[in-house]
Amino acid sequence: MSLDQIQDRITAAEANAGRAPGSAKLIAVSKVQPDARVRAVLDAGHRVFGENRVQEAAAKWPGFRDEFGPVELHLLGPLQSNKARQAMDLFDVIHSVDRPKLARTLARLADEQGRCPDLFVQVNTGAEPQKAGILPDDADEMIAECRTLGLPVLGLMCIPPVDEDAATHFQMLSDIAARNGLTGLSMGMSDDFETAIAHGATHIRVGSAIFGARVAP
Ligand SMILES: *Cc1c(COP(=O)(O)O)cnc(C)c1O
Repeated sequence: MSLDQIQDRITAAEANAGRAPGSAKLIAVSKVQPDARVRAVLDAGHRVFGENRVQEAAAKWPGFRDEFGPVELHLLGPLQSNKARQAMDLFDVIHSVDRPKLARTLARLADEQGRCPDLFVQVNTGAEPQKAGILPDDADEMIAECRTLGLPVLGLMCIPPVDEDAATHFQMLSDIAARNGLTGLSMGMSDDFETAIAHGATHIRVGSAIFGARVAP
C-alpha cells in the first residue's frame, strides 16, 4: 500500500474517532527493509521512521540523514544497557524502556550529556514471558521511578499478543496511562492501527503495510 493510502486510512480513523487530523503520528517501521524501499518513502517526503535494533539503525540512518536532512528516528526494539549511549545519540524517541535498570542507565547518561530522547515505557499487557515490557501490575511503580529520575516519559507502548483481540490491550494501556497522567500511547501496527487510533493511539508503528513484507534476514 502506498504511503498516501495509509495516510488516508489514518485520517479516516481519526475522523471516525472524533479526533483532530494529525493527532496520530505515523512511524514508518523500516527495520530489515531494503534501502531502495526506505529511500522511496523518504522521496515521498516522510520523515518519521522506526527501527528495532541500534546496530542496524546506526548502519543505515546517518547516511540517509546526510542525504535527506533531519529524520525523526524512533527505537522500538529492546535496548541493552550497554547500547544505551549509542541509542541516545541516534534516536529522538525510545519506545522500549522496559525495566528500572535501563531507566537508571538512561538517567545517568542524560545527566552526563545534558539531553535525553523522549521516552515511552513498554508494558507487557499480555504478560507474555517471551516479550519485553514491564508487567501491568508493576507499571505504576516503574513510571513513578522514571519520574523520580527526571526522565522525559511521554507515555506508554505495547505490542499485544498476536492471537488476542488487540482492542482489549489498547484499552488496558490507555487505562494505565490515564491513571498515571500520561498522554502518549504508542500502539497499533499494520493490522490494527485503525483500532489503536479508535482507542487513543498518539503514535502508530506501521511497517509491512507501507514497505511490503519484510524479507527474512
Ligand atoms: C516490526 C514492528 C512494528 C511494525 O510491524 P508491522 O506489522 O510490519 O506493521 C511495530 N512495532 C514494533 C515494536 C515492531 O517490532
